[in-house]
Amino acid sequence: MTDSSGYAAFMAVSWTVLGSGSGGNCTVVASSRTQILVDAGFSCRETLRRMRLAGLDPEATDAILITHEHTDHVAGIERLARVLDVPVYMTEGTREGWQRYLRDQVRIRTKVTRIESFLPGVGFAVGDIQVLPFTIPHDAADPVGFTLAIEGVKTALVTDLGCVPANVVEHLRGCDVLMIESNHDLEMLRVGPYPWPVKQRVLSRVGHLSNEALAEFLRQHYDGSATYLILAHLSEQNNHPEIARRAAEQGLGERCNLLHNRLLLASQAEVLESIRL
Ligand SMILES: [Zn+2]
Ligand SMILES: [Zn+2]
Repeated sequence: MTDSSGYAAFMAVSWTVLGSGSGGNCTVVASSRTQILVDAGFSCRETLRRMRLAGLDPEATDAILITHEHTDHVAGIERLARVLDVPVYMTEGTREGWQRYLRDQVRIRTKVTRIESFLPGVGFAVGDIQVLPFTIPHDAADPVGFTLAIEGVKTALVTDLGCVPANVVEHLRGCDVLMIESNHDLEMLRVGPYPWPVKQRVLSRVGHLSNEALAEFLRQHYDGSATYLILAHLSEQNNHPEIARRAAEQGLGERCNLLHNRLLLASQAEVLESIRL
């Protein structure tokens, strides 16, 4: 976009993690014209409260994008979509899983009428935000991560993945903001309180990404492009923010400095201060 003087107009990108973890996930990504929520894992009331706390106007929301049908990503959709009067984008598999959750857990039938389906690997636009969903390995029907590009600024969100396969590595190249899972410390999970079947689920290749696996990705496959790297979906039982931070710093090595790969940690309870690019 250029203004009348021919200079490129300033396009603000803002990225606000309202909260992340197994108790609820929601991130607000906005350009100067478009605002989307990625995941709706908090109640409508709590989502609106956190948005206002972050200085965001809920009424400015244009769409809700959903990664997969687990409760911590969908719990607030039904009410939020109606209150904000916005379309909800998800894969067909996620839609079926979400509707099953509503029927079996919440015991309601959805009244949301504006549901848009997308296919992993096929890009689409919401306002001036270019969205590209991509398949991730997780034990849900058809889970995705997203890259969100706004006027040449590429951002990505990928949580709830058991490992980082080559297709995901490809999608995460050239990101200015990268929000990625750092779910658990392997030793804390091993000795922690979860029953063995749950530990096995978390550890599997379709479970959640450990600090160690993230560090390995950062060391071996990450191109180091991001200004901000956000560690997300930290387990409250099986992780500690400082342990996660240290593991990521070790994976990044000297690429973690004031100009690149500034590490931020998303939390379950607190809104993370908005990133602006
Ligand atoms: Zn989750
Ligand atoms: Zn999940």
